[in-house]
Amino acid sequence: MKNKMWAPWRMEYITKAAKDDGKCLFCKVLKQKASKNNLVVYSSKHSLVMMNRYPYNNGHLMVVPKNHTSNYDGLSKTENDDLHETLRLSIRVINKVYKPQGCNVGMNIGRVAGAGIDSHIHYHVVPRWNGDTNFMPVIGEVKVISEHILGSYDRVAKAFKEVSK
Ligand SMILES: [Zn+2]
Repeated sequence: MKNKMWAPWRMEYITKAAKDDGKCLFCKVLKQKASKNNLVVYSSKHSLVMMNRYPYNNGHLMVVPKNHTSNYDGLSKTENDDLHETLRLSIRVINKVYKPQGCNVGMNIGRVAGAGIDSHIHYHVVPRWNGDTNFMPVIGEVKVISEHILGSYDRVAKAFKEVSK
């Protein structure tokens, strides 16, 4: 059997969300208070973490710098350090809450890389289990997935509080 290419960031919904009113989804969320509505589970000085509404796998997180930039070099050293510390916390939370056998971490830079939101860089952190498969076609209905995510929102938000102490 051939290995499938792993590309959870090629998710159509993000493109749709971003095109809804032409504004950047992350910048919109940045102006809101963290809640189950926007799925923001953690916020540091320069970064935030959101659960992915239509995840590749259970526990799929996005780690986003607060500074809107499409360029990996567009962050200051302080912002970059904060982003990576937040990424480290996110992996710690995933390990604590979901206990996966591994994790994928990835970022798309620029439109050609296939990013849904190509104007605001962000990391995807996806827990992996041996033999797992794309969560979306398995579950099928978007509504079901959303409910599933809401169910783990509190656990994930709480875990961030614990690991960031
Ligand atoms: Zn933005």
